[in-house]
Amino acid sequence: MIIRSRIVVPMEGEPIDNGAVAISRDKITAVGRFDEIKLHQSGETLDLGDQILMPGLINAHCHLDYTMLRGKIPPLRSFADWIRSINTEKAKLTAEDYIDSINAGFAEAQRFGTTTIANLTAFPDLIQTIEEPLRTWWFGELIDVRNPEQADRIADAAVESLKSVTRWGLAPHAPFTASARLYARCEEISRQKNVLLTTHLAESREEMQMFRDANGAAFSFLKEIGRPMDDCGAETPLSLFIRTRTIGPRWIIAHLNEIDAGDFELLSTAPKFHVAHCPRSHGFFAHAPFALERLRALGFNICLGTDSLASNSNLSLFAEMRELLRKEPGVSPEQAVEIATVNGADAFGQRNLLGRIRPGAYADLIALPISPGTGVFENIVGFEKTVSWMMVNGEILSAA
Ligand SMILES: [Zn+2]
Repeated sequence: MIIRSRIVVPMEGEPIDNGAVAISRDKITAVGRFDEIKLHQSGETLDLGDQILMPGLINAHCHLDYTMLRGKIPPLRSFADWIRSINTEKAKLTAEDYIDSINAGFAEAQRFGTTTIANLTAFPDLIQTIEEPLRTWWFGELIDVRNPEQADRIADAAVESLKSVTRWGLAPHAPFTASARLYARCEEISRQKNVLLTTHLAESREEMQMFRDANGAAFSFLKEIGRPMDDCGAETPLSLFIRTRTIGPRWIIAHLNEIDAGDFELLSTAPKFHVAHCPRSHGFFAHAPFALERLRALGFNICLGTDSLASNSNLSLFAEMRELLRKEPGVSPEQAVEIATVNGADAFGQRNLLGRIRPGAYADLIALPISPGTGVFENIVGFEKTVSWMMVNGEILSAA
């Protein structure tokens, strides 16, 4: 089939006026001007009219488990208090609630034009009850802070639940909730099964204080629940991570807000990984400024996430792009769209397969109305409604 649109934004080369994309099954076969595409490609034409046709957005970090917690936890001064609050809220939820939450999250992400999502779930055993509408990387989120002797069993049980899905990975939660052994086991599995890894790292001041100084609210809280604290008091969370883990492009690291001068030195020579930045969740917690430009200059691939609705108001990556632009005057609207498409694809190891409209890429597309008098990329980042037309894997999805 051929899809024609007033403007096509392929995310490589310039936007195309009166453009078209040819699709065969789940893949894009050609992109260009409509008059040229229709000469060389066969199939029916779908005319989207005065719209911008672009790659679907890519959310590199979220937890759909907590879609139901929207608005339940107010911004708190302490990250440890937030963890206590979310634990209290989680204790009220049943397996049914989590399934509803995940399904509601998918529907909401879809309404906001997301076609690919990295979803961390604490309940990999529920995945088989869910039919995901979007291209999903399921990450089993693993915590062994209360039972570190079970590290291997926890990781292996998650793999058992995850192996029925096409795209999956492992997410040892964070260095303060996952033991060194749990991280090591996840790395072993990642190598054996060739799957991605993600984790939360250097997110809050309290995490920094805990590891570097062996004090603060997170240190007290975790000590209280019985975590061995012998890895605290010597180095920053990032330094601990780089020293003890096998770093590389298989890792998508969420947050990385707290990095000091020594950390930057380590990063300059460390193998590169991907960084998922969640601008609005970052604002919710009032974390230290995110070092976007410095990390980019060091060669790290920055992509965007929404995090969960326990620290955000909705799952719109358009809103994340706007927040990013508000905080980062050096970033252009075009670069923001690149971060939400091309960079996300790179993080999943899908360069040229996702995040761009090019021959051979998956047909994951969205269309947005044109606002007259606005530049194309300003138009995209300024989009505040829900997306009415979307294609995932060559299938047109009805508006959710
Ligand atoms: Zn998270």
